[in-house]
Amino acid sequence: MNMESTPAMNTEKPINADHLELQKFGELAHKWWDKNSEFKPLHELNPLRLAWIDELASLKGKRVLDVGCGGGILSESMYFKGAEVVGIDLGEKALSVAKLHQLESGAKVDYQYIAVEQLAAQQPASFDVVTCMEMLEHVPDPASIVAACARLVKPGGSVFFSTINRNPKAYLFAVIGAEYLLNLLPKGTHDYAKFIKPSELSSWARQADLNVTVMRGMSYNPITQHYSLGDDVSVNYMLHTIKSAA
Ligand code: SAH
Repeated sequence: MNMESTPAMNTEKPINADHLELQKFGELAHKWWDKNSEFKPLHELNPLRLAWIDELASLKGKRVLDVGCGGGILSESMYFKGAEVVGIDLGEKALSVAKLHQLESGAKVDYQYIAVEQLAAQQPASFDVVTCMEMLEHVPDPASIVAACARLVKPGGSVFFSTINRNPKAYLFAVIGAEYLLNLLPKGTHDYAKFIKPSELSSWARQADLNVTVMRGMSYNPITQHYSLGDDVSVNYMLHTIKSAA
């Protein structure tokens, strides 16, 4: 594990980021909006997760923070649902791609290079909705990210997480299947040891005053080559939580 400290950000603690993970996404960043690239799964998943988030949190008119926004697939789509969106990431290349893409798409997302813990210290309780998708399994201390998301949302606001479960089936599908058999993702994208059980994520959420309301599974069907949402949370899953009222 490689804890990086970025002097420009002027934080005392080392930043909760894994340099090699950020580099992996950086190397692929130019392909972010290519729907047939390594980012195909995120493009496929996006309409499903967007509809679910919108159903639970009614995005129109809301102030939303997208943590680990990458090239902006979810951020842009939430903007087009009528939200005011801030997207943050510690991948400089991904953020450059996100900023370039919005010139083309017309989305007006406010992209910022800042650690979520740092933003939480600066602007607590300032967002109606926080999303943190497909990111927790790439950081050294995911509980700290969950706590920062909880700090950033207003009392009664929604925080959404998505990640990958840790069990033999998840290893088979998310690592062997997606990276080795189906070539959906580059080899080495996911590190099994960093996968997160729903019980662990729920417990970090509860410790941060986030009440878990509902969980949804996202399953990939290799025959139809499509994702669907359902009750099976054994591999990819999303969690909806609500911050306790003050
Ligand atoms: N959330 C986006 C992108 C997921 S890819 C989506 O679901 O469409 C994972 C992203 O997490 C990458 O953009 C990577 O740069 C970012 N990331 C990894 N570690 C991070 C950290 N510590 N802080 C912020 N972003 C991080």
